[in-house]
Amino acid sequence: MMTFDELNIAEPILKAVREKGYERPTPIQEQAIPVVLHGKDIFGIARTGTGKTAAFAIPILQELLTNPSPEGERIQADAPRPGRQERRGRSHGKREYRPIRALILTPTRELALQISDCFTDYAKYTRLRHTAIFGGVKQGPQTDRLHQGVDILVATPGRLLDLIAQGEVKLGDLTHFVLDEADRMLDMGFIADIRRLLPVLPARRQTLFFSATMPSDIVALSRSMLRDPVRVEVTPVSSTVDTIDQRVYLVEKPEKKGLLVSVLKKETDKSILVFSRTKHGVDNIARILKKAGILSGAIHGDKSQGQRQRALGDFKSGKVKVMVATDIAARGIDIDGLNIVINYDMPDVAETYVHRIGRTGRAGHEGTALTFCSREEHPRVKDIQKLTGKKLETVAYTA
Ligand code: AMP
Repeated sequence: MMTFDELNIAEPILKAVREKGYERPTPIQEQAIPVVLHGKDIFGIARTGTGKTAAFAIPILQELLTNPSPEGERIQADAPRPGRQERRGRSHGKREYRPIRALILTPTRELALQISDCFTDYAKYTRLRHTAIFGGVKQGPQTDRLHQGVDILVATPGRLLDLIAQGEVKLGDLTHFVLDEADRMLDMGFIADIRRLLPVLPARRQTLFFSATMPSDIVALSRSMLRDPVRVEVTPVSSTVDTIDQRVYLVEKPEKKGLLVSVLKKETDKSILVFSRTKHGVDNIARILKKAGILSGAIHGDKSQGQRQRALGDFKSGKVKVMVATDIAARGIDIDGLNIVINYDMPDVAETYVHRIGRTGRAGHEGTALTFCSREEHPRVKDIQKLTGKKLETVAYTA
């Protein structure tokens, strides 16, 4: 098995990676890092939880670290000219010009923040700077940060286009572009935004395209933006993690509440993520839990950024053991020690089931997935079995 040392990564980055406790690259990292360092485009099939973020973040940092920014080169080249350094030089306290050289486009604020946190960790021993921009919050603090200069920008599409239109973000010096979670991007209706963004990016750039699934519209999109890409693939969505214990409760709709409360009262020391298809469903479940005296957090698209961050923070820190979420909101939830995923309702499509339960059983940990399935929802069990090629154990539940 490969080690990080064998990947030709500079010591400041290696040191940070060691401090994160990563012992060796994950399969996606092993495949993607050399390809990125080679300057090739990537067509990557990988879901969250595979170490995908580090698979692009580490080699991008490496590239930016070893290739000075265009202005940096200009500063050096022009050094003999008197006055130039005074106007631009780092040592004179003037604002230094720092072009954005890497852009990571991601569908949700949670993911943007999570990716930004990864850069904070991996870049801590370098002088490279990054920030995240996303909608739903005031733009002032974000533009302040941009004015200070960043090498790496993590962004959601809407806010990015706004700031480009305002002249706050300039991408003319971009060398690396990552499109993260392309399938989710399309699900969320960002295709027009992506198409508007592409012409703004320099044609000469390296593009890393990641998606958990590859339906035909995603493949078409990737073709329009990749040049001779290397295909990198880990755990296709149909292969559910073997370490997850999956159980389906056959339970009539009115009895789901009681079942949920009884499971949660039994598993009080576990961290548990409860999925509902709709925002309304999330609020409903949160009310049921409150009434039952069970402390829980809830996130969905209608919650404010502050509310979501707080709920996520409390859940990650273990202060709150139960989180209720919609599929889209849960996209950004990344918790290594998540013990149980509960599908309060059956997802509409089998792939969503695989995404949901993939939140647990990560990095070799054991995980449990409990699915509450009513009579009307029962036909979907077959779809899931077809996708995963695995029989689901069903248990009849009566209160
Ligand atoms: P991601 O797929 O990027 O969301 O990463 C999933 C989780 O794996 C995150 O919590 C990372 O911190 C963790 N991770 C990433 N790379 C490694 C590695 N090489 N060894 C151990 N954990 C890792």
